Amino acid sequence: MDITLSHENELLLQTVRAFMEAEIYPHEEEVDRNGEVPPELGKQIEKRAIETGLYAANLPEAVGGGGLDYTAMAIMEREYGKTSHALHSWIGRPTELLMACAGDQVDRYLMPCVRAEKRELFALTEPEAGSDVMGMKTNARRDGDDWILNGSKHFISGPCMPDFAIVFAATGIDETSRGPRKRVTAFLVDVGLPGFDIREGNKCVSYRGYQNFALSFSDVRLGPDQILGEEGRGLELSGKWLGMGRVWVGATCCGKAERIRDLAIDWAATRKQFGKPIGQFQATGFRLADMTIGLKTADLLVMDAVAKADQGIMQDADAAMVKVYCSEMLNRVADDAVQIYGGMGLMEELPIQRLWRDSRLERIWDGTSEIQRHIITRSILRPLGA
Ligand SMILES: Cc1cc2nc3c(=O)[nH]c(=O)nc-3n(C[C@H](O)[C@H](O)[C@H](O)COP(=O)(O)OP(=O)(O)OC[C@H]3O[C@@H](n4cnc5c(N)ncnc54)[C@H](O)[C@@H]3O)c2cc1C
Repeated sequence: MDITLSHENELLLQTVRAFMEAEIYPHEEEVDRNGEVPPELGKQIEKRAIETGLYAANLPEAVGGGGLDYTAMAIMEREYGKTSHALHSWIGRPTELLMACAGDQVDRYLMPCVRAEKRELFALTEPEAGSDVMGMKTNARRDGDDWILNGSKHFISGPCMPDFAIVFAATGIDETSRGPRKRVTAFLVDVGLPGFDIREGNKCVSYRGYQNFALSFSDVRLGPDQILGEEGRGLELSGKWLGMGRVWVGATCCGKAERIRDLAIDWAATRKQFGKPIGQFQATGFRLADMTIGLKTADLLVMDAVAKADQGIMQDADAAMVKVYCSEMLNRVADDAVQIYGGMGLMEELPIQRLWRDSRLERIWDGTSEIQRHIITRSILRPLGA
């Protein structure tokens, strides 16, 4: 695996770093303190991202996106991970699921998202169905050519109130070799449709200002052209995107871990107790060494996964390993950094407590560590028939 950055990726890295310095970092503390990104600030980040060519950099050039490969995406996401989701999510990366848009959907959903005229949400999780996706109760039944959608979703997140949501709903039962299984279909559901209620959800202490929404559907009528992809193929459609999402979580965790580790190094080198820098105490110095080993290992895992993804050979277990390892590495780094800072690590005046709070979410969303371990275990045992 070659991990030397190509000339193009080095330029990308410098562009993203300059963007973060100018447009993002100056606003971090205020956004965390107030728990919101003022709309005019969000729009300014969005505008600058379009001007810099970072908006929709993940989508193919054929639809007006940046056409980055997965290796380049990982470099970009790693830098974004150094800050809050509340801010960097304004540098839009529309879900690649929208590439499944067909016919009129291209002009109604995909292209407006590429041009930052529309924002979407990805709505899978329900109050009673989190890790257990197949426990979903949201359903759509046929009514002539139409579908009638009922149910609810929660924890559905984005930078701002969206224009539409990609909603996963059960549309029947399939008989499979392992017994009956829900058929799941993805629908494009416009905000404002009769029966579709969307409101702000609970406040999260990680990434304050990043919004999450509660969605409910009461007899929402959808035409046949509101299905994204094919009826009954919703989970297959989202599978690849969910896998890459876990790799992006891993890349962002590496970025954040590097930022926290560097703050901890500075503190360990300058804070003196017993007449010397605390980094000279082995208990502190070894923590810095372990942080550095963990970060290096995590970066290599991400680079391995994206190299495989670029060749089209990445497996679910590769992405799961990245998600588990990088998010848990980040949480160890963040916790150790608080310890190195001592009491000051928990004071609002310094960024460590914020980065520590933000880190905690990474072990939960996009599938918890436990669910990732299930995926890895399955990949080990299933070939043996166990
Ligand atoms: C801020 C935020 C934003 C989010 N954004 C989105 C979004 O945009 N779209 C979306 O669809 N979802 C989103 N989510 C949902 C997220 O993916 C879920 O929170 C996550 O998958 C876990 O589900 P849960 O919270 O219901 O936990 P639960 O499923 O209730 O799990 C609780 C605990 O039980 C454990 N557990 C459950 N089942 C098993 C098992 N079989 N074996 C071992 N342990 C198990 C879990 O690992 C966890 O530790 C978001 C969540 C948050 C907090």
